[in-house]
Amino acid sequence: MQPRDLSDHIAYEAGRGIEEVARELGRDPSEFVKLASNENPHGPSPAAVVALREAASSVSSYPKAAHADLTAAIADRWSVTDDQVWLANGGDGALDYLHRATIEPDDTILVPDPGFAYYGMSARFHHGDVREYALEREDDFEQTADAVLECYDGDRIVFLTSPHNPSGSTIPLADVEQIAEETDEETLVVVDEAYGEFADRDSAVALLEGRDGFDAREDVAVVRTFSKAYGLAGVRLGYAVVPDEWADAYTRVNTPFAASELACRAGLAAIDDDGHVSRTVETTENSRAYMREHVDAHVWESEGNFVLVDVEDASSVAEAMQARGVIVRDCTSFGLPGCIRITCGTDDETERAVETLNEVLADLNLDANEDGDGATDTDVDAEVTDT
Ligand SMILES: *Cc1c(COP(=O)(O)O)cnc(C)c1O
Repeated sequence: MQPRDLSDHIAYEAGRGIEEVARELGRDPSEFVKLASNENPHGPSPAAVVALREAASSVSSYPKAAHADLTAAIADRWSVTDDQVWLANGGDGALDYLHRATIEPDDTILVPDPGFAYYGMSARFHHGDVREYALEREDDFEQTADAVLECYDGDRIVFLTSPHNPSGSTIPLADVEQIAEETDEETLVVVDEAYGEFADRDSAVALLEGRDGFDAREDVAVVRTFSKAYGLAGVRLGYAVVPDEWADAYTRVNTPFAASELACRAGLAAIDDDGHVSRTVETTENSRAYMREHVDAHVWESEGNFVLVDVEDASSVAEAMQARGVIVRDCTSFGLPGCIRITCGTDDETERAVETLNEVLADLNLDANEDGDGATDTDVDAEVTDT
């Protein structure tokens, strides 16, 4: 017996963890800082930690009340009805639900390149196909309606990521509206706002609800997560906000008890902890500005909790930084072999990342010059892993 043909399915490459890297290099985990997965440098909301402890003794029951309460709290936050909030196992789970609700075999989705790998993976699980529109590095990964519409060919879903991972660029709501307007009636525009809290921008929820001068639409959905600004990546909690017109599809597509008791209790506590989110956003803004100012390489402007850096040779730089205790994301798997992505850390972590990166860049430059004088590539590798 074999699984079905999965040759089109690309395995997800997560950012590497401290334990994993320390074990591999035979070093102590405390020597490392991880700025590879856009996690919250302040950890979870303290209120969520208390809630998790308190909830521990009640995990023998299915999460019914907690699920309903969190749905209501999120609906309240966005001024939408409870039905419009599709709780899920992470933002990724919300993407699955949107596919379950829309994709027929051989339907296509249109995704950004570079972009978040899970859009395509999830569509393929649901027997859909994937098409891409390019975000051009030369244009600083600018997102416009025209660039997306030029590639559009009747796709069932168009994915927009704002702020975009891994570049940090955003798309104006007027462009989202134009895309929704100019695509077929049966095309859903999904705006992935996993990093929405870090951007000084209005949410695309305004488009579903007809606020801020927009006409209400039934062809736009928004994805949000508790993983980033709320610091709850480990509990797996996210949701979609969908138009009222088809919101009841949730009960037909969701996995029973879509979010765990622990996730719901943590989410309920975190959503009321505005202080934690604003502190996180402030740290992020400082870190972004510091990296743009002090890194000795091009750093793209970002509205996420990370920056993309042009280092020319991402795998060498990421490996050398890791050897010096700073784990960053090599963007080769995003199709950007010249770029690394660095998560915004605390002030200390950010300074350490910048200092380490600048040292590595200087060393590699030096090696490159020595190379011309006869040093071999093996020398370069040895130098990198020894430091
Ligand atoms: C992190 C992320 C998500 C959601 O992650 P979850 O941990 O599953 O909530 C969704 N989209 C993008 C672009 C992301 O970077």
